[in-house]
Amino acid sequence: MNREHLRSLFTTKSARVETNRGEAYYARLYEQCKARLEELKKIEPLRKISIKEILEDEGVSRRDFLKWASATTAMLMLPSSFTPLVAEAAELMTRVPVIWIELQDCAGNSEAFIRSDGPKVDDIILEIISLEFQETLMAAAGHQAEAQLEDAMEHFKGKYLLFVEGAIPVGPGREWCTIGASGETFEEHLKRVAKDAAAIVAVGTCATFGGVPAAAPNPTGAVGVMDIVNDKPIINIPACPANPANMVGVILHYVLTGQIPELDSLLRPKFAFGYRIHDNCERRAHFDAGEFVEEWGDEGAKNNFCLYKMGCKGPMTFNNCSIVRYNESVNWPIGSGHGCIGCSEPGFWDKYAYERPMADANIKMAPGGGVEKSVDEFGLGLLTAAGVGIAIHAAASAIAGKKSEGEE
Ligand code: SF4
Ligand code: SF4
Repeated sequence: MNREHLRSLFTTKSARVETNRGEAYYARLYEQCKARLEELKKIEPLRKISIKEILEDEGVSRRDFLKWASATTAMLMLPSSFTPLVAEAAELMTRVPVIWIELQDCAGNSEAFIRSDGPKVDDIILEIISLEFQETLMAAAGHQAEAQLEDAMEHFKGKYLLFVEGAIPVGPGREWCTIGASGETFEEHLKRVAKDAAAIVAVGTCATFGGVPAAAPNPTGAVGVMDIVNDKPIINIPACPANPANMVGVILHYVLTGQIPELDSLLRPKFAFGYRIHDNCERRAHFDAGEFVEEWGDEGAKNNFCLYKMGCKGPMTFNNCSIVRYNESVNWPIGSGHGCIGCSEPGFWDKYAYERPMADANIKMAPGGGVEKSVDEFGLGLLTAAGVGIAIHAAASAIAGKKSEGEE
C-alpha cells in the first residue's frame, strides 16, 4: 500500500482512539499482558543493569516512578489498573533488542532520544533499552560498526525492533546516499536490515513521510519507510523531532503486550495521534472566543491569544504535543508563542510551514451556521474544506467577540 493510498484512507474518524472497550476486553488484555511479562522474565536481560539503581542514581524515587507509570498508562489509553504492569514492563525493557539505523536525516530524533539534561523517567528508560546498534551513539566506526550490525541482526533474528530515522532517496540521486565500503544504497540497506526485524518503528517525519528531504522539488526522490517496506508491521512516529515519550510508549506497548499498538491509517499509534493539537490546546478558549494574535508582538500575543491567524496548523495536525509537550514537559511550540507547523503530517514542509492560515481568515460566516461541525469533522483528506471551516469559525468567533465587546 503506498503513501498516496494510505493518505486517501485517512479521516478524523479513522484516527480516533476508542478509550473504553468494555470490562471483558480489558480483563482479557490484562491476562495477556501478565502472561507476556512472565515470559519475558524468563529471558536473560540483554544488558546487566539495574533499572532500580539507575533511577535512584538519577534521583527518581519509587513514588516518582509509579507516578510516571500511572501517567504512561493513561497515555497508552489503558485503565489505571494496568499501572503495575506498565511499571513492570519498564523494568523488563532490557529484554527487547533495538537496532537503530539512520538514513537521510539530521539526527534530530537521535538528539531527542538521548536528551539527558536533568532526565525524566522517559529519558532514563530510553537510555536503558538494549540498543544493539546506533551509529550516532556507538563508539565503533567503519568495519567494526558494520560487523556489530551484522552480529546484532544475526543474533536477534526475527526479534529486534528496528528504529529507522531519516528518509530514503529513491530518485535518480539515490546513489548519493550510500553506506559502508560496499556502497550499499540507503534503500538496499533498509531492506536488508528490515528483513529479520520483528517490527519497524519509523521515527520522525523524514522516516515516516519523507519529511524535509522530500520538500519540493525533492531532488533525491525521498520517501518514507512505508513506501519501501511492505512485508513487516510498521509503526510511524512522525514529528520533527518525534517526541521521546511516544518512542517510549511504542516500545513499552510492545514489551507489555507483545503486539504493536493500534494504528490509524497513516500507521501512527492512535494513543499518540488520535487527537488534534487543537483539541487540547491551551489557547483553545481564545479561539472559541474569537481572540487572535493579529501580528507578532501585538497585544493579543502578549495575552497568549490563539495563533490561528498567524498560521497555526493545530486544527489539522494530529499529535499529542499539547498534552505531552517537549523538553521535560516544560513547554511546546504553541506555549512559547509560535503556531504549530503541522510537522507530524505528510508533506508538512510544503503544505503547512508558512505563517498564515490555510484559508482566508476573513471569509464570511456560512449561511445557516454549522460552523462547529465543519471544525470538528474534517480530516486530512478534506484539508481545503477544513481550512475554510476553520476560517469560517475564526471569523464567526471574531464577530461574536466584537459584538460582546460592543455590548459591554
Ligand atoms: S488554532 Fe492553534 S493556537 Fe489556536 S487553539 Fe487551535 S491549536 Fe491552539
Ligand atoms: S506543535 Fe505542531 S509543529 Fe510543533 S512539534 Fe507538535 S505537531 Fe510539530
